[in-house]
Amino acid sequence: MRVLRHRDLVCQQVVELVTDYLEGALSRAVRRRFEAHLADCPHCTEYLAQMRATISLTGRLAPEDLTPQQQDEFVELYRRWRSEAV
Ligand SMILES: [Zn+2]
Repeated sequence: MRVLRHRDLVCQQVVELVTDYLEGALSRAVRRRFEAHLADCPHCTEYLAQMRATISLTGRLAPEDLTPQQQDEFVELYRRWRSEAV
C-alpha cells in the first residue's frame, strides 16, 4: 500500500487558489507551497494547464465566466483524479 505523505496543500486547496496564483495574488510563502504541491502532483499540474488554456481563450481569468457545466466538469475531473490517486 502506498503511503501518501502529508501535504501542506491538498488538491482541493490548489483548485481554490489557482485563480489567485495565476493572477500573482498569492503571498510568497503560499505560492511556494502551491508550487511545491504542483511539482509533486501531476493532476494539479494538468488542472493549472487547463486554467491557463482557459485564460488564453478568454484573455483573462474569470472562473465565473465558465458555464455551470464546465465548472461541474472540473469538479468531476477532480473527483476522478482523487479517487485514482488513492
Ligand atoms: Zn494536487
